[in-house]
Amino acid sequence: MTGYVFAPPSPVALPVLGTDALFPVRRVFCVGRNYAAHAREMGADPQREAPFFFTKPADAVVAPGRDVPYPGATADLHHEVELVVALSDGGADIPPEQAGAYVFGWAVGVDLTRRDLQAEAKKAGRPWDAAKGFDCSAPVSAIRPIAELERPTGRIRLSVDGAPRQDADLSDMIWNPAEIIAEASKLWALRPGDLIFTGTPEGVGPIPRGGRVEAEIEGVGALSFTVR
Ligand code: MN
Repeated sequence: MTGYVFAPPSPVALPVLGTDALFPVRRVFCVGRNYAAHAREMGADPQREAPFFFTKPADAVVAPGRDVPYPGATADLHHEVELVVALSDGGADIPPEQAGAYVFGWAVGVDLTRRDLQAEAKKAGRPWDAAKGFDCSAPVSAIRPIAELERPTGRIRLSVDGAPRQDADLSDMIWNPAEIIAEASKLWALRPGDLIFTGTPEGVGPIPRGGRVEAEIEGVGALSFTVR
């Protein structure tokens, strides 16, 4: 029998509301600029952009109830609150009208970003991995199982140390979750356990060391953590 040269890592897992069973995370995809006002605050034109994707490592996910270390190599750690779609089935070239069948549920996520490194990468035409895919860069709430995939509505908001920073509605999304799943499945064969961060509304900004982040999406859940 052949073994491993060292023990393989355990899968990162998220709690699921209403059950003791865990959701095993396979991959993490993220959509850039999916709210018009946020695209404008980042200096882009929302009318001309098809959805584009970047990724984070699965083990960048931080399960709820855990705090987040302030990452090295940045002086400008930013919050981006996002609706996260969790997939229970996969495939390539999924038509948007069938995408609902692939969804297990929704969660609240924060796409933590080293904004200074992202600005440097954009300027130099370099990849975003160090700006977006660092350790503990993806805190995610418990997953709420959701049977059908309608166009979501509901308030999405985030505060830092009690001060409101982001406050918008899911209906402000340019591309809805079904369209995002369809677009992502043109680029990757999606698989059960994949998470997709669906973009952030306007109001992104810095988190100080020791800052307490509280995020909530109406009808989905809440997530809070301290950046230590
Ligand atoms: Mn984001």
